Amino acid sequence: MINFNVPPFTGKEMEYMRQAVENQKICGDGEFTHKCSKWIEERTKSKKCLLTTSCTHALELAALLVDIKEGDEVIMPSYTFVSTADAFVLRGAKIVFVDIRPDTMNIDENLIEAAITEKTKAVSVVHYAGVSCEMDKIMEVAEKYNLIVVEDAAQGVMASYKGQALGTIGDFGCFSFHETKNYSMGEGGALLIRDEKYIENAEIFREKGTDRSKYFRGQVDKYRWMNHGSSYLPSDMNAAYLYAQLELADEINDIRLKRWKQYYDRLAPLMESGKIELPHVPEGCIHNGHMFYIKTKDMEERTELINFLKKNDILSVFHYVPLHSAPAGIKFGRFHGEDRYTTKESERLLRLPMFYELKEQEVDYIADKVKEFYGA
Ligand SMILES: *Cc1c(COP(=O)(O)O)cnc(C)c1O
Repeated sequence: MINFNVPPFTGKEMEYMRQAVENQKICGDGEFTHKCSKWIEERTKSKKCLLTTSCTHALELAALLVDIKEGDEVIMPSYTFVSTADAFVLRGAKIVFVDIRPDTMNIDENLIEAAITEKTKAVSVVHYAGVSCEMDKIMEVAEKYNLIVVEDAAQGVMASYKGQALGTIGDFGCFSFHETKNYSMGEGGALLIRDEKYIENAEIFREKGTDRSKYFRGQVDKYRWMNHGSSYLPSDMNAAYLYAQLELADEINDIRLKRWKQYYDRLAPLMESGKIELPHVPEGCIHNGHMFYIKTKDMEERTELINFLKKNDILSVFHYVPLHSAPAGIKFGRFHGEDRYTTKESERLLRLPMFYELKEQEVDYIADKVKEFYGA
């Protein structure tokens, strides 16, 4: 059986976790947390990276920093994971969904401006499959209307847009290190902060509303309750696990890109004959091989293909049910404009197995089976 995902494991994880235990500091902000944050700051050229317990929590921190109030509106795509919306809904925001582009499944940058009202506070964009949104246009609109931009870069670690790392272009960037992502610590994430003015508050929100981070640096002699907050620090054992993978980030990235390209090349004939569609990576975007998907004719054909692959020991899966059509989406949000692509394209998209340890022969086998299904 070829699984859809196998969590990455590189070999040094156990040794580093043992070191974390031997350091006798397994709570948050220990040696490995520091190493991971520093690595991320250097690689992404970010001013500040705070490791968190998940990308969901990084998004919640961003929503706290944006200072969302009851009734504020946040614009985002409907084709995304629930956390993109949840983080803002928890603070009382109304979600305004706009349509996606069918070629990348990302928010259509040209539809954002028309969805802005006096209540709009932020735009949250999602870099689907590690392929960047059109950030130039998005930042231009955000500047014009004085909106905060939050990048949900859960899938975008090690990917870039015109030379800039995803997660560092908007005001805030959120990474995920969940076991389904390119680099993992089981559950985990990171918040990237562009403007230094937010760092102090971010540290306070992350440390239960206290200035304990300052205290640990020796900047204050006791720590106090400064604001509301929560606990968003991962254990240093988890950070140790992640650090082993960050050390091999280039190798993991290269392998994923290689498998991605192999899928693409093998399946290109099916695209050329009009049977399926393949992902599009726009000019200026460097992706990270997070996902390989194809688009079938419609949902019915997709279901048949999933079953056919399963019979051949291959697990393939579809992805998001658009948020605006889900119960909470109806309650907390509205769709601005026409749903031309969100529903239709989400029903056609099928993800094929993609993970660090996926073998070259396995990709060949999967591609052959997809071709067989289409009689090619
Ligand atoms: C995985 C994912 C998340 C959630 O990440 P967690 O670390 O599990 O909280 C959020 N948004 C997107 C787009 C994701 O793919």
